[in-house]
Formats: sequence, C-alpha cells, structure tokens
Amino acid sequence: MNLSQPNVSPIMQAYQSITAFLDKLTLPHSSVTNEEERQRSRLLSYFLLVTILISPAVVLFQLTIDRASLTNPDMIGAIIAIGFAFILYMINRRGRHTSRAAAVMIGFFAVASVIIPFLEDASESTLAFANVSMLLTGMFFARRAVIWVSAGVLVLVIIMNSLVPNLPIKVLFYYLIFSSAMITTFVYYIQYRESLRRQRLEEANVRLIQSEEALHALNSELEARVEARTRDLEAKNQELERAWEAAKKADLVKSQFLASMSHELRTPLNAILNFTEFVTMGMMGSINERQKDALDKSLESGRHLLSLINDVLDITKIESGMLRMFVETSIDLTDTLEAVQTTARTLLKGKPVEFRTHIDAPLPLITGDKRRLRQVLLNLISNACKFTEEGEITLSVINEGSSLLVSVRDSGPGIKQEDFGRIFEPFQQTETGIKHTGGTGLGLAISKRLVEAHDGELWVESEVGQGSTFFFRIPLQPESLTVSLQSVGGLTG
Ligand code: ADP
Repeated sequence: MNLSQPNVSPIMQAYQSITAFLDKLTLPHSSVTNEEERQRSRLLSYFLLVTILISPAVVLFQLTIDRASLTNPDMIGAIIAIGFAFILYMINRRGRHTSRAAAVMIGFFAVASVIIPFLEDASESTLAFANVSMLLTGMFFARRAVIWVSAGVLVLVIIMNSLVPNLPIKVLFYYLIFSSAMITTFVYYIQYRESLRRQRLEEANVRLIQSEEALHALNSELEARVEARTRDLEAKNQELERAWEAAKKADLVKSQFLASMSHELRTPLNAILNFTEFVTMGMMGSINERQKDALDKSLESGRHLLSLINDVLDITKIESGMLRMFVETSIDLTDTLEAVQTTARTLLKGKPVEFRTHIDAPLPLITGDKRRLRQVLLNLISNACKFTEEGEITLSVINEGSSLLVSVRDSGPGIKQEDFGRIFEPFQQTETGIKHTGGTGLGLAISKRLVEAHDGELWVESEVGQGSTFFFRIPLQPESLTVSLQSVGGLTG
C-alpha cells in the first residue's frame, strides 16, 4: 500500500495525473513573473489547449456521423481554429501572452468577419467566433474594450447583412446583444471581485506595514534600552572590579598588618613569659606560695595569649599567602604522636575520660612539615579533650599504603550536620564552642588549610549527643610539596 497517498481510487489517481499533465502543458513562461499575469497566461493556455483538443472531435463527428464534406462551414471553422490555436499555443510558450491574446482576438474576429460570411449557413460560426473574441477581450483588456468589441461585432453583422443575403440577421442580432450583455456582466463581476480582492490585499498590506513600523519602533526602543542597560552594567562592572581590587588590596594590607603586628606582639610576650618563668622557678630569689600562685596564673594567661597570637598570625599568613612551610623527607611521626598523647593525658587530668590509641606500627616515613602536622594533631586532640566531659577519646593512625589516615574520635556533645562546613571557616564556632571560653574558632580553619597544603583532606563525622570524629588523610609523598620552604596559598572561603 502506498502510504503517501492513502485511499486514493484509480479514477482519482488518473484525474490527478491528467491535471498534473495539464498543469505542465499550461505552465507560464518563466519571464512572466507577475502572479496575475501568470494566471491570465495559464487561462489562455487552457483555452487554446481545449480548442486544440475539442476541434478535431468536431471534425471527426462531422466527417463520420454527418458525412459532411470538408467545405462545410463548421468543418472549416474547426480546422481554422485548430491551426490557429496551435500556432498561438506555441507562441504562448515564448511568454508573450498579451500580444498573443490580441492575436487570438484579431484572428477570431478576422475569421468571423472575412471567411465565414461567405460560407453557407454561417450564422452559428459567426456567433461563436464573435463571442470568443469578446470573452478574450474581457479577460485580457479593460472592461471598456468589451463594449467596443461588441459594437464592432454588431457593425460586422450589419455589414454582413448587406453582403450575405441569406443570413438570419434578426436572430443573430438578438443573440449578439444578449451574449455581449452576458459577457460584459460576467467580466464586470469578475473584475469587480478582483478589484475588491486587490483592495483588501492593499488594506492588509497597509496594516502589515503599519504593524511592521510599530514593531520596528518597538525594536529600536528595546535595542536602545538594552544598550543603555548594557552601558549601565558595564559601568557597574567596572565599578565592581575597582571595588574588588580595592578590597583585595585592603585585605592584603590588613593581613600583612596583622601578621607583622602579631609578630611584634610575640617577641615582648615571649620575654614576659620567660622572665616570669625564671621568677617562678626562684632563679631571681625566693618567693612565697601566694606569689608563686599569682605568677603561675600569669604564666597560664600569658601562654594562652601567646597561642591566640600564634593562631591569628598563622591564619593571616595563610590568607595573604605568606605562610611558609619547612618541608622535610623521611619524617617519623612516632615521637610527635607520643607528645600529643602526653598532652592529651595532661588535658584530661581529673576528667572521667579514657584516652585510647590505635596506631599502626611501624609507621611509614612521610614527607611534610613536622611542626605543622603536630599543630594539626594537637588542635584536634585539644578540641576533643576540651569538649568531652566523660567517656572516651580515641586517637588512631592507619597506614593505607600510600597515605596515612588519622582520626580523633570523642564521646563529646557532637556537632550539628548544618555546622559541618562552617566550623572550618575562620572565627566560626558552634554554640558549644562559644560556651567554652578560651576558643577563637581558628584552630580547625588553620588545620584544614595545613592538611590541604600537604595534598590531604580534613573532615568531620558527627551526630549530636553521640560524639564527633575528625579525620585527616595525607599522602606519604605529597606531589605539590618539594623539599624546601613552601608557601601555603590564601584562603578562598
Ligand atoms: P575553637 O576550638 O578555638 O573554638 P576550632 O576552630 O578548633 O576553634 O573549632 C571550631 C568550633 O568547632 C568549636 O568552637 C566548636 O564549636 C566546634 N568543635 C571543634 N571540635 C569539636 C569537638 N571535638 N566536639 C564538638 N565541637 C567541636
């Protein structure tokens, strides 16, 4: 079954192919571009084709049924029509349809006026040829021309009357008047419809032009607005860029200022701590119990202050990209872990908290900054000790082959999941952190960046009320660390 033409009967198919064939035969010449002209040209082609096709049938009919001779007026008329129509049809293919139409008219008129009147029984043929010329005039020329042609035909009939005695002039006269009235009305009607259609088309065209103009105006307005907005945005962008540059500069200046100030604070503070320690130890003469107690408290506060200054110094150095690491190969973390355990036990003194360790021995040697790794471990352990009131704390170190996985698990208050990201940002503390005075919210931020500087990662797993576990994993041979002083990049958060 042909899917492209479903349910098409053979008759329909034959009809379609005939019309397609006729369309091809009547196709106007490519030089005729105006749509109206093309329609007229096609109409004329149809007319000529029909004449070419029908006239032979008339001839055959006359010859076989009526047994007419070739000198019969109908026969002569039909033969003339075939020949004439054929010549015109061929000219038609050249694309000169107006001149062709005029030729048809003149030809038919000539046949009607000159040849037929002298033949026997010429009235019908005269009528037919006269009507055809009127119809063609209506098709191709102005309405007024039909009236002129009709008048011409009437004059012809009158002349014929005087030349051909046996012509039924009265009947012919009435027929001509009637047919010219019919044709004129028909042509008027067709042309009226055409002018109406053209008027509507023009109106639609005007509306289209108007809406196009409106659209154009709207478009230009929109373009202007977009341009203005773009200019605005560009200006704002430049402003923002300038502000961003200024902010970056200010940030750098602030970091540098903080770093140098913290550094300047550390030197006198260290001196204060050292001299206080000397006095406490009795190196500057004996002191009584009350004096020793007061000096111990001063020492404790001083050390706390020193650790705060150190943290501020570290974070500002990291932020400004000024923190340098001292990278060594073949570091053994055993003694560092022992020191961290000692600190943990000291911090947990008096608390019902059990401290456990699970360390894979022997530990592999690693590349990194030993002091900074100890700082990270101490921070995690001291946080666990600070926030855990009872239960246990476990420090574990697992050798994963190419990396070390360190974790500090506690049975403390735990951390809400929504705070998991925040606690690694500088100066951010949870409610628990704020309750415990003495914290700054810098330890984890520094630790995370130090671990990342070792190509590692630091993260937390926790549930409120169940305790927390802080993990960090560092490769044994960090790729980005070379054995030298290494700077740690600025903060991005
Ligand atoms: P600090 O301890 O000085 O406040 P940190 O950066 O070390 O600063 O920690 C940030 C915050 O993370 C703490 O204030 C605390 O709220 C939370 N935190 C850190 N460790 C723990 C822990 N082991 N248990 C519960 N909360 C913790």
